[in-house]
Amino acid sequence: MDRFTELHAALHDFTRRRDWGQYHDPKSLLLALVGEVGEVAELMQWTREADVRADLSQGDGKAQISDELADVLMYLMLLADAVDVDLIEATHAKLERNEARFPTSQRQGNAPSHARHPRGIGR
Ligand SMILES: [Mg+2]
Repeated sequence: MDRFTELHAALHDFTRRRDWGQYHDPKSLLLALVGEVGEVAELMQWTREADVRADLSQGDGKAQISDELADVLMYLMLLADAVDVDLIEATHAKLERNEARFPTSQRQGNAPSHARHPRGIGR
């Protein structure tokens, strides 16, 4: 079993044993995901850009961002399940489309800014 599949099974076992699946409708999971993304943002809020990486790469900062990113991943996985999306398959497909959209011959070292790509890389 690969690490993602193992994590997926552990997450579902965790929620099943608590009977929390009844609360895991797509909208509730999305709101929980956004809340957790907000908690990641909170860790960087009011910190100078130059200090963010150092603050979050060791000690308490590293522990905090690890926890919050884990929360984000768990809610993302649960949301994907709730709307019947295979995250690994969808991400591979999206990466493949982005390879075609942003060929390295044209894009190496150039950020996909909104000025050049009104829809951005994430669209
Ligand atoms: Mg959290």
